[in-house]
Amino acid sequence: MATDNQQNLISKNKEYASTFNQGHLALPPAKKYVVVTCMDARIDTARAFGIDLGDAHVIRNAGGNPDLRSILISQHLLGTREIILVKHTGCGMLTFTNADALKLVTQNAGAGILSSTFDFQPFADLEQAVKDNVAWLKEQSALVDRTNISGWVYEVETGKAKQIV
Ligand SMILES: [Zn+2]
Repeated sequence: MATDNQQNLISKNKEYASTFNQGHLALPPAKKYVVVTCMDARIDTARAFGIDLGDAHVIRNAGGNPDLRSILISQHLLGTREIILVKHTGCGMLTFTNADALKLVTQNAGAGILSSTFDFQPFADLEQAVKDNVAWLKEQSALVDRTNISGWVYEVETGKAKQIV
């Protein structure tokens, strides 16, 4: 029995595939860049950031924190040479501490399931977190030399993106 979300996927995908004509796109992103951003449901990365199909990698996770594994694959195996990191206003990661999250998981899943040092990577200051992430990326010697790295904040209230660093 399909869930409502599975049923939605089935019907919308049928519609999508009926006019799909971009099966010829190459695996490496044509514009050689990667966008790292939050998994927040309010961010339409393709439209808000102008990313056409096949142009860029988009790495999403809670907070838009840099995921070195995916970035290294993007650069060394698939040829990207620029990183655009975008955090956003109203991010859930601004609303809790590691202790809060650990307590919640412990209540729901049971004590001892997660290590007491598990890092959910929350942050308290949005623009500072963007700067910290970009600085951290610039220290990663495994990245391709002369990678262009920039940090941005996207406003979920206005749809506007502004560069921080
Ligand atoms: Zn977020």
